[in-house]
Amino acid sequence: MKAIVFHEFGGPEKLRYEDAPEPVFSETEALIRVKACALNHLDIWARQGTRQERVPMPHISGSDISGEVVKVGSLVKNHKPGDKVLIAPGIGDGTCEYCTSGWDSLCDNYRIIGYETQGGYAEYVSVPSANILPIPNSLSFEEAAAVPLVFLTAWHMLTTRAHLTAGETVLVWGAGSGVGSAAIQVAKVLGAKVIATAGSDEKLEKARKLGADWTVNHYNQDVPVEVKRVTNGKKANVVFDHVGQATWEKSMRSMAPGGRLVNCGVTSGGKAEIDIRYVFVRQFSLMGSYMGGRGELLKVLPFFEEGRLKPVVDSVFPLKEAAAAQTRMEKSEHFGKIVLKI
Ligand SMILES: [Zn+2]
Repeated sequence: MKAIVFHEFGGPEKLRYEDAPEPVFSETEALIRVKACALNHLDIWARQGTRQERVPMPHISGSDISGEVVKVGSLVKNHKPGDKVLIAPGIGDGTCEYCTSGWDSLCDNYRIIGYETQGGYAEYVSVPSANILPIPNSLSFEEAAAVPLVFLTAWHMLTTRAHLTAGETVLVWGAGSGVGSAAIQVAKVLGAKVIATAGSDEKLEKARKLGADWTVNHYNQDVPVEVKRVTNGKKANVVFDHVGQATWEKSMRSMAPGGRLVNCGVTSGGKAEIDIRYVFVRQFSLMGSYMGGRGELLKVLPFFEEGRLKPVVDSVFPLKEAAAAQTRMEKSEHFGKIVLKI
């Protein structure tokens, strides 16, 4: 099969379009013909070798997969060849206390498809049958691939972790990212008011179209000042962050008393200072979040059937142009998900 493979860590030039062996699958797995695969920042960290010990080499990236079932293992009963499917990106062992209580991503044996296994930048991928989900009606393969990882992450962050409720205000950093564009929509479904930031007027306009009530340009406006202004001094109850170092101190200044900061990533770096006096006097909660449970993805998908959530596809590249697609992501030129069509 054709695939995008890297044999050593480094820049986008390490991505090679070449022939790779068709994946083998076990009796509890299925072989999927990949139709579309969305990019995530994780793909760039994998390629750069941020945590080399986790990435099987040579490596095929791609965690957000849609496609058709080709063949199933002998123990797989609930899926059949021809089914149109999307793939839940996380694999737990399914037996520990975390997996059995819906906290799959805390499992000691948790792995992300396409990061800690071979992924969807390829014509075929093999996945555990438990990860196979039907594509919501009306979604194309490209749209379906734009859903799993970011909507699962945004849902877990805003509901399970931050307990965002109707009427509260949430500050969403980086609305142009896949997870930011998902967070705006999830927050609106939950009945919250959304302040979204982005780095260009064009992206701010798109954020408003997704439902953001207020937008702030994080390059030429002072985000905490704007948050205070639009909330009439009350500030944000929840801060949704995936940027880390560059936003941390501004997040602290944007939070209302009792505010909750929930973070799922550090695209700008992972070191920050905390003035602990702010945290205890204002009774802040600082929360980490990582992926989510497969059951949470099942809760999210019906909102696509109802049209209350919409995949945000920035652009579609042919598989062999994966390097150009990743470069677009690294330059933050995108709004929403960049998708490879296979
Ligand atoms: Zn487990």
